[in-house]
Amino acid sequence: MNPRVGFIGLGAMGAPMAENLAKAGLLQCVWNRTPSKAQTLAGKLSVEVAATPAGVAKVCNVICICVSEDRDVLAVIDAISLGIEADTIVIDHSTVSVNTAVAAAEKVRDHGGEFLDAPVSGGVEGARAATLAIMVGGKPETLERARPVLEIVGSRIAHMGDTGAGQATKAVNQVLCAGINQAVTEALAFGHALGLDLEKVIDVVSQGAAGNWFLEKRGPTMVRGRFEPGFKLNLHHKDLRICQAMARETGISLPLVDTTLKDYQKLLGDHGEEDISTLYRLKNPGKPMA
Ligand code: NAP
Repeated sequence: MNPRVGFIGLGAMGAPMAENLAKAGLLQCVWNRTPSKAQTLAGKLSVEVAATPAGVAKVCNVICICVSEDRDVLAVIDAISLGIEADTIVIDHSTVSVNTAVAAAEKVRDHGGEFLDAPVSGGVEGARAATLAIMVGGKPETLERARPVLEIVGSRIAHMGDTGAGQATKAVNQVLCAGINQAVTEALAFGHALGLDLEKVIDVVSQGAAGNWFLEKRGPTMVRGRFEPGFKLNLHHKDLRICQAMARETGISLPLVDTTLKDYQKLLGDHGEEDISTLYRLKNPGKPMA
C-alpha cells in the first residue's frame, strides 16, 4: 500500500501527529472542525485543507482521526463514510469506549473500508517526539497495512486483539493515569506543607523508585501554579467515566476511579480545560503555589 494520509482533528495531539506525518512525506490533507486551525497547520506543512471530512476520504486511503469523545468520533465517521473506498483504512487515535470502536468499525466496513482503534499514550510531548505508545484493535492484516503510518507517529505499536481491544487497553492506561495523578499531586502538596523546596524534591525523587513521567513532566509546572494542557481534565473525566461503566459491566470495582471522578467533578466548571495536574489545586487548597 502506498499510503496517502489524511488527518481529522488537529488539537493538542492531532496537530503534532499530523506534522510528523507531513515530515515523513505521507500527509496529503487535513480537516478540522474549526477551520482556522486547519488552515494555519496546512500552511505550515504545505498540505491541502479538505472542505469537508468526506473530502479527506476522497483523496486519502488512510484516514487518521483524533477528536475529543465518543459522539465526535461517530459524527466524523458518518461524515467521511460517503468518501470511503474499498481499500481505505480508518485509524481512530481518540480515546473512546470499546462500544464506540465497535460501532465505528461497523460503519466503516459497511462502506467497504477497514477500521483500527488505535488510541495513544505519551502526551503532547510524545506526539511531538513521535514516541507515542499505540494500542491497536482490529484485524492483524489491517494493522500490517497501516503499520508504515503508525510507525511515523509512535515508537511502540502493540496489537491487542480484535476491534475494541485497543480502547480496552487504553482504559487500563487511564486508570493508571488517575492513580499517578492522585499520588503525585497529593505527595507534592504534602511536601509543600512540610516546607520543602519542591523543585529539589521533584529532581531527587525522580531519580529513585518513585520517579515517573507525570512527576517529571507536570511536577515542575503544577508547583508553579501552571496548568496549561497537556491533557485536559475534562478529557480524562470522560475517559474515567468510560472506565467506570466498563467496570460496572465487568462486575469489578475501581475505587481509585470513583474517587478521582468525584475530585474532577469539583474542578470541571472552572478548570476543566486545564491539564489534569490541576488536581493539585484540590490537594493544596488556599495555599500559595510554591
Ligand atoms: P483537544 O486539544 O481538545 O482537541 C480536540 C480535537 O477534536 C479538536 O481538533 C476539535 O476540533 C476536535 N473535535 C471535537 N469535537 C469534534 C466534532 N464533533 N467533530 C469534529 N471535530 C471535533 O484534545 P486532544 O488533547 O488533542 O485529545 C484528542 C483525543 O486524544 C481525546 O480523545 C483524548 O482523550 C485523547 N488523548 C489525549 C492526550 C493528551 O495528552 N492531550 C493523550 C492521549 C490521548 P476544534 O478545533 O474545532 O475544537
